[in-house]
Amino acid sequence: MYCYCCNQNYAGVFTALCPSCHRIRHLQSVYGVDRVLEVLENVLIRDKTKQKYKEDTEIKKEKEKIENTIKTRSQTKNV
Ligand SMILES: [Zn+2]
Repeated sequence: MYCYCCNQNYAGVFTALCPSCHRIRHLQSVYGVDRVLEVLENVLIRDKTKQKYKEDTEIKKEKEKIENTIKTRSQTKNV
C-alpha cells in the first residue's frame, strides 16, 4: 500500500506512512506542526524579495551576454 501522506512511497502492510513521512511526523511531534510547516515554507517557497533578486540576477546575466556579443562583433569588424 502506498503511503497515506506522500502517496509516492510504499508504506508497508502494518503502517500507513512510509519511512520518510514517519520522519516528518516525528519532527512534527518534536518541534510542533506549525514550526515544521514554517521551516518548509521558508526554505522551499521563495518570498517576493528573493524572487526579485533572482529576476535581477537573470536580467544582469542577459545584459552581460548581449554586451559581450556586441564587443566580440565590433572586435571582429576592426580586424
Ligand atoms: Zn510518505
